[in-house]
Amino acid sequence: MSDYDALIIGAGHNGLTCAAYLAMYGMRVKVVERRKVVGGAAVTEEFHPGFRNSVAAYTVSLLNPKVIADLDLHRHGLQIVERRAQNFLPAPDGSYLLTGEGRTHQSIAKLSERDTMRFDAFNRELETIADVLRKFVLRAPPDVVEGFGRRTISEAFNALGSANILRGLSLESQRMLLDLFTRSAGDMLDDRFESDLVKALFGFDAIVGNYASPYAAGSAYVMLHHAFGEVNGRKGLWGHAIGGMGAITQAMAAAARNHGAEIETDAGVHEVIVEGDRVIGARLDNGETVKAAYVASSVNPKLLYTRLISPDALPKPFLERIGHWRNGSGTFRMNVALSALPSFTALPGEGDHLTAGIILAPSLGYMDRAWLDARQHGWSREPVVELLIPSTLDDSLAPKGMHVASLFCQHVAPTLPDGRSWDDHRDEVADLMIATVDRYAPGFAASVMGRQVLSPLDLEREFGLLGGDIFHGALSLNQLFSARPMLGHGGYRGPLKGLYHCGSGAHPGGGVTGAPGHNAAHVILKDHRGIFA
Ligand SMILES: Cc1cc2nc3c(=O)[nH]c(=O)nc-3n(C[C@H](O)[C@H](O)[C@H](O)COP(=O)(O)OP(=O)(O)OC[C@H]3O[C@@H](n4cnc5c(N)ncnc54)[C@H](O)[C@@H]3O)c2cc1C
Repeated sequence: MSDYDALIIGAGHNGLTCAAYLAMYGMRVKVVERRKVVGGAAVTEEFHPGFRNSVAAYTVSLLNPKVIADLDLHRHGLQIVERRAQNFLPAPDGSYLLTGEGRTHQSIAKLSERDTMRFDAFNRELETIADVLRKFVLRAPPDVVEGFGRRTISEAFNALGSANILRGLSLESQRMLLDLFTRSAGDMLDDRFESDLVKALFGFDAIVGNYASPYAAGSAYVMLHHAFGEVNGRKGLWGHAIGGMGAITQAMAAAARNHGAEIETDAGVHEVIVEGDRVIGARLDNGETVKAAYVASSVNPKLLYTRLISPDALPKPFLERIGHWRNGSGTFRMNVALSALPSFTALPGEGDHLTAGIILAPSLGYMDRAWLDARQHGWSREPVVELLIPSTLDDSLAPKGMHVASLFCQHVAPTLPDGRSWDDHRDEVADLMIATVDRYAPGFAASVMGRQVLSPLDLEREFGLLGGDIFHGALSLNQLFSARPMLGHGGYRGPLKGLYHCGSGAHPGGGVTGAPGHNAAHVILKDHRGIFA
């Protein structure tokens, strides 16, 4: 006899989403979370007395509108606001690019008249394919089933439905889709644009969480992955959750509890319990056992299968393959408490550009060099930094007149070469990141009153993000769609009966989307009662 219908491992935003849907449909649900707070990588904390900020994820766009509506997140306190400008890219020569409604064209025209027209054309191409991706986000991808039976037929129908979505695209758009899934962002951008800053604007999205050159094959997909979101119905924009990203997961937890789910924090899973070929529950770090008919895991798949399940319980080929699951984002995350707003040499003083994602990486060549340097040295000595100052949009985060900034830094090695440890280099690299901002905005370093620093190793220890991987596994073609986390298990069902994947290691991957949690819940509901909700 099970204690619950469903046990969810991990109270990140996907675990919470999955729990809320299952509870909404009447299942008895328990969520267990290793940390002392819910939210996983989408949390807000006070990191310096009087200063709060999102700790890991820091900006919102990908959160699915259906999830927001179904879970009634606005009623549970979620408020998302738009940035007043989208992106600001200053260059060392004093030029800059500033994008956002009513200003993008004018700003690009100062850099390259020709790129103005090409910008619109590329955005239209990207938007057409992003629209296709949106149709796939809340669908379980067709699963590969061995042999012939009822599931083979239902997956064949699923594959037909997917093919039908693609058939709706013109031939030219299908070619673009192929390019975006296989080519490098760098090559695609060089084909179209001449301004370094315009290329860098798109190129940055191709290396966020992707430890690779923007000229690496497959980086164009990562760029696309960052384009399928929206803010309050406005496609492609990025915004801010008032109160930080923790406001999203607090609202999700409230929704889940409201539907009857139980959530226990400080309750890490020590081991998933397997009987024969079926999962029947989990043993917690505190020795307690929780039994459930369905167990859905929202942790990184490699963590689940190599640390939480006995190897004897798993098919050998499965275990061997998941052992090769590619993790490692190459990101370094900081929060800083500021006594004053930064003033950029390229655009001095206050203004809407300080509400934007401020990208300090002025060309694709700079990003490429940053990656090469990180490969050799462990981090790039001229790093890629995105700076966001959420307190320009949300005065609940810092004392009056003061500010908080997120620094999201790309191209540090997930594991340092020559056996060195991040524990010995964390502060040195944090100083480098601050000095990098100071080069573009002199006086920034002096305004830093306090800081929170997370190396890839810290991200792994704190959040269970193996190799610091922000997506729970690289977004490479062999780890996407029906192959996420593995061909044959792309439909949210694991290799043991009763075991499901509901986190970012399942389709459609990382980002604060709610999509894997939503999709996994619907597969569980279908298996439980034949419900299509
Ligand atoms: C530094 C950083 C910046 C990012 N920036 C953005 C951004 O700005 N916007 C965006 O959309 N996305 C961003 N992302 C990506 C996004 O945050 C993640 O992809 C997403 O939050 C993952 O959600 P999840 O629910 O799938 O997993 P997680 O949030 O990782 O949740 C998994 C949960 O499982 C728990 N857990 C682990 N082991 C156990 C165990 N043994 N027992 C019980 N619980 C366990 C963890 O503590 C965690 O709470 C960022 C990520 C990082 C790390």
